[in-house]
Amino acid sequence: MSLSHLNVKYWGTRGSIPSSMQPGEWSLHFEGLVRGFFSAGHRDPSQVQKYFDSLEIPIVGGYGASTTCVEVETPQGQLIIDGGSGIRQLSERIMSGTHARAKGPFHIYMTHFHWDHVIGLPFFTPHFLPNVQVNYYAVHPEMESLIRGIFRKPYFPVPFESLPSKIRFHTLEPRQPVRIDDMTITPYQLDHPDPCWGLKVEYGGKAYAHCVDTEGTRVTREDLGPDLPLYQNIDLMYYDAQYTFPELADKANWGHSAAQIGLDIAFRENVKHMLFAHHDPGASIQTIQDIRRQTQEYYSWRIQNAKENGQPLPPVKWGFAYEGLEVKL
Ligand SMILES: [Zn+2]
Ligand SMILES: [Zn+2]
Repeated sequence: MSLSHLNVKYWGTRGSIPSSMQPGEWSLHFEGLVRGFFSAGHRDPSQVQKYFDSLEIPIVGGYGASTTCVEVETPQGQLIIDGGSGIRQLSERIMSGTHARAKGPFHIYMTHFHWDHVIGLPFFTPHFLPNVQVNYYAVHPEMESLIRGIFRKPYFPVPFESLPSKIRFHTLEPRQPVRIDDMTITPYQLDHPDPCWGLKVEYGGKAYAHCVDTEGTRVTREDLGPDLPLYQNIDLMYYDAQYTFPELADKANWGHSAAQIGLDIAFRENVKHMLFAHHDPGASIQTIQDIRRQTQEYYSWRIQNAKENGQPLPPVKWGFAYEGLEVKL
C-alpha cells in the first residue's frame, strides 16, 4: 500500500501491564451484546453483521490488552514508538511479508524504559534476522545498557550478543530535530517519575505529538517552557488519560494524567484531534465508557461556557484509542 500522508497505527494502548478482562467478565459482556441485538428488534442471524457494524469497535471488542506500541508511517518511512507488548503483533505483520517494509531498516524510538514500554522488545522478530538493521533512538544516554539488559539471562533465553541483526543505538539531543527517512522527529520532555521523552513527528506539513506517559503537571505555557512546541498546532495528539479527573488528586506523582487536562491544552494550543490512552490495567470497557462520558460532559461545558463568555472555542475532535486503531493525517 502506498501512502501519501502521515499514518499512525496503535498496536497497544494499555498502560502499566498487559491486561484483559477475565473470561467471566467477557462472558457477561457478550451476554449484553446479544441482549442488545434482540432489544434493537433483530431476530435473524443475517442481521448480526449489520448490528455489529452499527456499534463502535471498542464497544464490541474492548480497547485491547497490549501495552504501548505505535507505528508512524510516511511514504518513505516507518517509525515505531516504544516496545510494549503491542510490538509483537506489529512484528507478526512485518514477518507475514504482506507489507513493503519486511527487510528493514527498522527505527524504534523509546520514550522511556518502564516495563510496559519495553516488555515486547524481545518479541520483535527482526532482532533475530541476519543482516537486518534495527536502530534504537532515545534521549537517555544509558539506552544501550538498558536494551541489552532486557535480553539478559535468565530473563530471556537469547542474550543480546547472540542476536544476528545489526543493532545500532542513537542518542538524541533534547528538543533537537532529527531526520529519519522522510520524517522529522523532535523529543520533548514529559512529566513522569523517571525521565520520559515525548515525541513530535512531522511530515508534509502535518504534526503528530506523542504524549504518553505524562502526568501533565506542567500545563501553563510558562511552566511548559522549552517543551511547549510539543503541544502547539498539532494535527493528532496521543495523550495520557489513565485516570479520571477526581482520581488525579489521589495519584499525584504516579506519572499519568486525565483527558480533561489534555483537552485544556488542546483548546489553548490549537490541537485538532486528541486521542486518549494508557488505559489503566484494571479498566473494563464499561470503566472507559464512563471516563468517556465524563470527558464529554467536560468538553460540552467548556464549549458552552466559552460561547456564553463571547469567546467561542474551536472544536476539538477527540476519542479514546483502542488497539488496531489507525488514523491518517
Ligand atoms: Zn507506561
Ligand atoms: Zn512510565
